[in-house]
Amino acid sequence: MKMRGGWQILCSCGLHHGLRFMLRRNVLILMYHGFLAHEDGGELGPYLFNDVTAGRFEEQLCYLKKYYHPVSLMDVVAASEGKKTLPPYAVVLTFDDGYASNYEQAFPLLKKYHVPATVFVTTAFLDRKIALWSSRLAYSFARTQKERLKVMFGAQEFDRPIRTPRERLSAYVAIKTFLKNIHQEQREGLIIPVEAALGVALVPGDEMPAFFQPLSWAQAREMAASDLVTIGSHTHEHFILGRTSVQEARRQLSLSKERIEAETGRPCILFCYPNGDEGDFSDTTSALVQEAGYCCALTTVPGHNDPARGLFTLKRMVVDRGMDLAYFKMHIVMVRQVLLRLKKKLAYVMGKVVHARRR
Ligand SMILES: [Zn+2]
Repeated sequence: MKMRGGWQILCSCGLHHGLRFMLRRNVLILMYHGFLAHEDGGELGPYLFNDVTAGRFEEQLCYLKKYYHPVSLMDVVAASEGKKTLPPYAVVLTFDDGYASNYEQAFPLLKKYHVPATVFVTTAFLDRKIALWSSRLAYSFARTQKERLKVMFGAQEFDRPIRTPRERLSAYVAIKTFLKNIHQEQREGLIIPVEAALGVALVPGDEMPAFFQPLSWAQAREMAASDLVTIGSHTHEHFILGRTSVQEARRQLSLSKERIEAETGRPCILFCYPNGDEGDFSDTTSALVQEAGYCCALTTVPGHNDPARGLFTLKRMVVDRGMDLAYFKMHIVMVRQVLLRLKKKLAYVMGKVVHARRR
């Protein structure tokens, strides 16, 4: 749980309101993934750290409605084209991947508070042809009966005990981090041996645990028809565009766009990079995204946005399950980054003072 005494004190001092005011002309984009009905996710619970409970999400919506102006990503695009003016304290909600819980848990709350959101779907996931690779790993680690994982990654051997839930989670995080940073085409070839070594594999389709289920296209259509939700692309197979060939990137961008437009009957012009960290996108991928007919692209690089600076590397603040409301208020105005910058400046000044005294 990311609620620590220090954050609580800073929050009660109102520091977040000062920073919120300073950032009022920028656009804040929040990134969610799946949602949970309750805190307990069973044996899979420890692996669902990206999922926010419906209760927490409702608290966050109330706070955002009171202190921010929720706008849609389409409003941000329109504002960048001079067709609209954004209000101060603009905030955009985005959900990645396309989990069924977006419809089951979050959509009723979006309607209740009348807050718009963009759902970025991985179209082969909605087609029930693939399970997301991070879900596959989580499922195998949560359900394995093995006590040790020994697997070869090329010439590199991964050998770790996985007897306790803590050991399993730690091995999961290590493997997930490794797999995030390799070339797209290599990843599939490495996940299969891990699933085989753990003796458990998640099969895409209706048998998947509820947490990992994708939206149905009917649910996506219903959300899009509400005019509160826009469906955007998150590629066809969750490919990390900066780590795949140009040809494959083009295919992922056009195929997902076609599937969304065919299923929803609406144009798909919003794109969000899978993984979305530095190295997962580039000037080349931005050009490919534009060439495919999208108007913006979102990353997972933390920060706020000035839309006048371009829409193809928009930054977002992630929201996860470990954040209570006090931490959420501080996190979305980047208090941690501000404090780190202050600490560095202070260390620099102190270093100068000490140096001057020694002379
Ligand atoms: Zn994703």
